[in-house]
Amino acid sequence: MDKGTVFNIQRYSLHDGPGIRTVIFFKGCPLNCEWCSNPESIDIKPHLTFTPEKCLGCGRCIAACPAGARSAESYNSDRCLLCGECVEACPSEALEMLGKVMSVSELLEEVEKDRMFYESSGGGVTISGGEALVQWKFAVNLMRELHKRYLDVVLETTGFAPWETVKRVIKECDLVLYDLKHMDSEIHRKYTGVPNELILRNALKIAETEKNMIFRVPLIGGINTDEDNVSAIARFSLKAGVKVVHLLPYHRFGESKYKKLKKEYSCGAFTPDDKMINDLKGILESFDIDVRIGG
Ligand code: SF4
Ligand code: SF4
Repeated sequence: MDKGTVFNIQRYSLHDGPGIRTVIFFKGCPLNCEWCSNPESIDIKPHLTFTPEKCLGCGRCIAACPAGARSAESYNSDRCLLCGECVEACPSEALEMLGKVMSVSELLEEVEKDRMFYESSGGGVTISGGEALVQWKFAVNLMRELHKRYLDVVLETTGFAPWETVKRVIKECDLVLYDLKHMDSEIHRKYTGVPNELILRNALKIAETEKNMIFRVPLIGGINTDEDNVSAIARFSLKAGVKVVHLLPYHRFGESKYKKLKKEYSCGAFTPDDKMINDLKGILESFDIDVRIGG
């Protein structure tokens, strides 16, 4: 597959794998975590948003639309081609397209802009999401092209996909950043929409391949920050032979995006304070695990 849907390309990242990296965020995710800071990533399709407070009422979007999807009173999403012409025409950024269909060669062009930073820092490209495994054929094609250009490739994943898919994708990357959210399957299902058995099974299977893997744990205050859960993560890490765990403290930065998407932000979690983060770090370190805060 030569084209995929991407919702962000972040340059100069220092927290998503070694060195300086470009992170490509794929759209589409089978999970629906209550605390998600990228709610625009869940749906695989691009999404057109409208912020009425910014609208000047100039009508340029209506004139630009090739599909007659816009009028002064309404927007007909069934007619919309998601072409982005109205976004281009709007002088006040009242319209925004979340997500873009891009080809492998377009992404390579973006990524190549920072080659000198990758080379000087031991960095490269990280494929993230959403969940990149949803568009796994596109991910594989992109990763292969990146490797042909001698670029380091990291996959960040929830691991929620059939093993046959996971196996094909991890073969193409140099490091897997693997998310672990909660070790209790029912609690996992309650807050993410899916149970955790498949995720844990896939993590152990990746470990068997001896692929370089780091576990990443979002610390969601009051949801997965209890000692029992973190101890269970430590034991699972030892079982999988994973020696490095990244702790990513929860923040509410994504909250404003929910309004734009006309979704409700229902997460009642808190941001862990320094003491809590250090206590949880200490639990993992007592199992001889190397812990980094923030990745
Ligand atoms: S994205 Fe294209 S088709 Fe959809 S409303 Fe805008 S101009 Fe019309
Ligand atoms: S082009 Fe932008 S500012 Fe003008 S009517 Fe359309 S949305 Fe409003």
